[in-house]
Amino acid sequence: MTERIIPIAEARYPTRAPFIPDNARPASGLLSDRRGRRLHDLRLSVTDRCNFRCTYCMPKSVFGTDYQFLPQSSLLSFEELTRIARLFVAHGVEKIRLTGGEPLLRRGIENLIEMLGQLRTPTGAPVDLTLTTNATLLARKAKSLRAAGLERVTVSLDAIDDAVFRRMNDVDFPVSDVLAGIDAAAAAGLTPIKVNMVVRRGVNDSEILPMARHFRGSGHILRFIEFMDVGASNGWRMDEVVPSGDVIRRISEAFPLVPIDPNYSGEVAERWQYVDGEGEVGVISSVTRPFCAECTRARVSTEGRLYTCLFATEGHDLRTLLRGNYADEQISAAIAHLWNLRDDRYSEIRSDETAGLRRIEMSYIGG
Ligand code: SAM
Ligand code: SF4
Ligand code: SF4
Repeated sequence: MTERIIPIAEARYPTRAPFIPDNARPASGLLSDRRGRRLHDLRLSVTDRCNFRCTYCMPKSVFGTDYQFLPQSSLLSFEELTRIARLFVAHGVEKIRLTGGEPLLRRGIENLIEMLGQLRTPTGAPVDLTLTTNATLLARKAKSLRAAGLERVTVSLDAIDDAVFRRMNDVDFPVSDVLAGIDAAAAAGLTPIKVNMVVRRGVNDSEILPMARHFRGSGHILRFIEFMDVGASNGWRMDEVVPSGDVIRRISEAFPLVPIDPNYSGEVAERWQYVDGEGEVGVISSVTRPFCAECTRARVSTEGRLYTCLFATEGHDLRTLLRGNYADEQISAAIAHLWNLRDDRYSEIRSDETAGLRRIEMSYIGG
């Protein structure tokens, strides 16, 4: 018998094979978890690799040159990703976000977008398809992404000051190239563009106002995200979190803001509008105002593990089912079973004890 060697990357996080109930009913599009939350959003991670080393996400001390990323054979193929997405859409998912690592590094991503664009919800509507990117390849790819059927993009940008930004991405990448990517996305019609800034006290909180000033009146929606204790490698500390309330106060002192209604119930970003009509900003208060009660997101990692919470300590190995001899109905039943059991609410119960748990990295599961 030959011994099977499991690559380190595969064994990095605990996983278990999903249970397949044998009396499953067909998907109704109306799944609900133990807390009455629907399954509405799906985040698909398409790579665990990235060309940035953002200090809060992939610090070089952990993700150095000897770090072993997943081998190509471990990644879900576009066919596998589309099959998973189709099963989730039948269960009620209406919005799919592609993420990573850096999703635009996945070769031929446009083909995947085209395949996902063919999916239809139980009411016959196309799926809302979007992507989060560091924009390094956006200037080059915006047109082809739009042509493939991508509707919008979210761009991550943590500072408008070039020196601060280069320090944060830790690969000396200039702000000007990200701004060129945003311009190209706008020209290609990938709008409205959201720009996400993770705020870390003492690192880039001095950039809150300059970022607001830069994007006011641009038509793009700047959103400030509280620094979260995802993963185990970013050295998170509560005193580095700048509460969203402070962010809004700081901007309001220069440019008065008023709160506005959410676009839809359960929207995670709180929206604020400039009184002088120059657009809006959003805040995502994952730490100071957790939104677990309305969390309708499932996440699937690059190699096909389902996570029912960003802070989950264990994934469910859907790839084994995809690559085994399992019918759609069986995989669909396994997904329904897992969602029905879901009870996660990490941000509501965050404590010193939970902060010490071994969690998945953000670059692995993708925000
Ligand atoms: N590479 C792409 C990008 O940066 O847009 C997509 C993947 S990245 C993991 C997705 C989002 O997670 C980014 O907006 C990033 O800023 C955010 N993120 C990563 N680590 C975070 C943390 N510790 N707290 C809050 N947001 C974080
Ligand atoms: Fe890469 Fe995005 Fe993580 Fe930065 S936040 S290291 S761009 S995956
Ligand atoms: Fe959702 Fe988990 Fe985040 Fe709560 S902590 S909002 S359940 S992902």
